[in-house]
Amino acid sequence: MRYTHSFGKTNKQAPHDADSANARLLIQGGFIDQLAAGVYSYLPLGLRALNKVKNVIREEMDALGAQEILMPALTPKDNWVQTGRWDEIDVLFKLEGAGGKEYALGSTHEEIVTPLVKKFVNSYKDLPVAVYQIQDKFRNEPRAKSGLLRGREFSMKDLYSFHQSIEDLDEYYEEAIAAYNKIFQRLGIPAIVTEASGGDFSKYSHEFQTPTESGEDTIFVCDKCQYAQNLEITEYQDGDACPKCDGIMRQMKAVEVGNIFKLKTRFTDAFDFHAAGEDGQEHDVYMGCYGIGPSRLMGAIVDVHHDDQGILWPKAVAPFPVHLITLNAKDEAVKDKILRQAETLYQDLDQAGLEVFWDDREVSAGEKFADADLIGLPLRLVLSEKTLKENSVEWKERAQTESRLVKLEQIIESAKSFIQS
Ligand code: ATP
Ligand code: MG
Repeated sequence: MRYTHSFGKTNKQAPHDADSANARLLIQGGFIDQLAAGVYSYLPLGLRALNKVKNVIREEMDALGAQEILMPALTPKDNWVQTGRWDEIDVLFKLEGAGGKEYALGSTHEEIVTPLVKKFVNSYKDLPVAVYQIQDKFRNEPRAKSGLLRGREFSMKDLYSFHQSIEDLDEYYEEAIAAYNKIFQRLGIPAIVTEASGGDFSKYSHEFQTPTESGEDTIFVCDKCQYAQNLEITEYQDGDACPKCDGIMRQMKAVEVGNIFKLKTRFTDAFDFHAAGEDGQEHDVYMGCYGIGPSRLMGAIVDVHHDDQGILWPKAVAPFPVHLITLNAKDEAVKDKILRQAETLYQDLDQAGLEVFWDDREVSAGEKFADADLIGLPLRLVLSEKTLKENSVEWKERAQTESRLVKLEQIIESAKSFIQS
């Protein structure tokens, strides 16, 4: 994509009211636009990053054997009354439709998925089953905060699994933890598996917590084995001995990027969802739910990976791997040559599977370099009068301070191996 064609531009000024690195850098870099507190539009660069996060999650959910579906966000009141949560969930957005019929905008989907799955499961032969969706959720959060970390409309991947026995649920739950760890590792973001409140259904749920100052949670983490508990349930204090090894429990601020629960029969009972067993009798169905927030994750990635100049996108989620810059030359013939070289390079990189963001504006080198740092793509390539003379390209990685010249004929291979490493 050429900068001059791209809808959504960088801003010279940082937004004055940004309360976190992700809000400041994503708005200033032209990734997102704020419509209202906790409500954002995604511009082309931001949507690309969000979609990359979603796709990594999607691949790992598919690998876990879950099937993708899409449920409505507009949900009838009756479903929520059935579980008692119409009055229990304080952040539920409620609205009235034609004929006075009441609805909620989905803040979570147990009330929808449970009767849905019930329709298709008759006996133990249809179990286990796992379905997930990636959808916007709505929560009337008292305080929207920290850019994408706490929105009122935000993206969630929610997976639900249904089992014939507790043992089967337990087994799947462990596989889900492994899948989640893989997701965070691929996204280039640390996430500590943290014991947290299990609600009425189990002793613990498990949160995936990313340490960051803008997080609203406080957790205690062993400095040696990473065993962790959330402040809400813990009896530990900073400096206590770890119960699992000879490490020390340390207090830190973190943001919850994922949360998984063993719901057991809390919702299947509410919808009278039972399944015939081998013995022909009706048996309980055990349920688990597994949430992860792609938009919050995108914010957390920026909070973790940035410096004073801008974002440092991990390769797996960078909206483009390569940021190409052409510098203007005074001499028209030289300028033409640089542009033709850029055109070829742009196409060759694209054919090699490396999509390019090309800053083709007629602005100063300083402005282009500052914007490249702000936008934060992993590899910056510069073509100029100087590189033309050397038959080279100036290569600079966002995470490094030095640059170097790479011969034009080597650039595709070098870029490919850098991005794939
Ligand atoms: P929190 O305690 O931060 O309010 P939660 O425990 O209510 O979150 P869950 O219901 O467990 O959130 O939702 C699953 C995931 O959805 C969370 O782990 C998080 O990644 C994401 N999420 C929840 N609320 C928000 C929000 N307001 N904005 C963005 N992402 C959110
Ligand atoms: Mg949670």
